[in-house]
Amino acid sequence: MAYLAIDFDAYKHNIEILAKKADGIDKLIAVLKDNAYGHGLNEMSPLVAAVGIKQVVVKDINEAQQVAPFFQKVLILIEAHPQNAIVDERFIYSAISLEALNDFPTKTNIHLKIDTSMRRNGIKPSEIKKAFSVIQKRKLNLQGVFTHFYGSDMIGSDYYVQKKIWQDVKLTCKKLGTLFELKDLVFHSKNTAALLRDDDMDNELARVGIGSYGYVDLDKSFGNFNLKPVLSLWAEKLSTRELKKGDKLGYGGSFIAPQDMIVSTYDVGYGDGFFRTNETKQLSLKDGKKILGRLNMDCISLEGKNQKVCLFNDVSHIAKHFNTISYEILSHLSPFLKRVVTHN
Ligand SMILES: *Cc1c(COP(=O)(O)O)cnc(C)c1O
Repeated sequence: MAYLAIDFDAYKHNIEILAKKADGIDKLIAVLKDNAYGHGLNEMSPLVAAVGIKQVVVKDINEAQQVAPFFQKVLILIEAHPQNAIVDERFIYSAISLEALNDFPTKTNIHLKIDTSMRRNGIKPSEIKKAFSVIQKRKLNLQGVFTHFYGSDMIGSDYYVQKKIWQDVKLTCKKLGTLFELKDLVFHSKNTAALLRDDDMDNELARVGIGSYGYVDLDKSFGNFNLKPVLSLWAEKLSTRELKKGDKLGYGGSFIAPQDMIVSTYDVGYGDGFFRTNETKQLSLKDGKKILGRLNMDCISLEGKNQKVCLFNDVSHIAKHFNTISYEILSHLSPFLKRVVTHN
């Protein structure tokens, strides 16, 4: 059966690197949204807790309920119906607009999201004062304030311009916090790229996703961070046959054997979330092996007859091949694939 191997030692290694940058493991919020970037929430949650992380970010309430037994605080990013928010000690909702503040039930735990120039979700800096008074009037439980950088992985000044806006926002929020008697507000802004390029933490927490899984898209000029990919995809042999020179293989007969050769099919396909390859651009696997012809929903053809093959242990080149980012390749992996945790 095809499976994903989850390398716990690689995860621990990445967290150590990120924790050092963030001034300690208690400053890290692990981002587990979208099935832990495809790694599997059920498998990752105990591992994330085992390295000492106590706060996490998830996509929605379903994910929050899945991970809640393992963590002290769970920040929920997406809630299209704030009036349905669940009031629970561990759950914190991202409050992204004044409308949402009007809809959350009384006593909902929230972190206020500020739009510091990404212009998707978040309260504008000019609305912060209004937001604090709505929060007070509606008796919401404001615990923190945060923002998200749109250009932390870009060379250039975008990151620093946005950081300056955020620093001003923080000052405003700290003053209002005193005025409204909201003690112990926490602040967080950095994702992986922001943390690795700039370890000036200013007493904040950092939300780390992709780096904890072993990747970061930062120009080499920012340094080499020595992160290790956590996940690898393995498949097992279904059958083997011999092709004669000129034989066609697979849908559309798009692969034509250039010589006599042994080929095998393996039990992974695009139905498992592996991107669909075709004859126009052949994808090379980790050992240089090429995927032969078109990928099926449930199987793949490769030269040779090994019992088991590793399709990848690093998705960087696959992301490049499909002109996308590692995040997309990872988060598309099917939740139905078996996950096996390995320890050295
Ligand atoms: C996904 C996400 C992150 C994590 O970003 P990485 O680049 O994966 O570290 C942090 N914050 C928010 C709000 C996110 O949506």
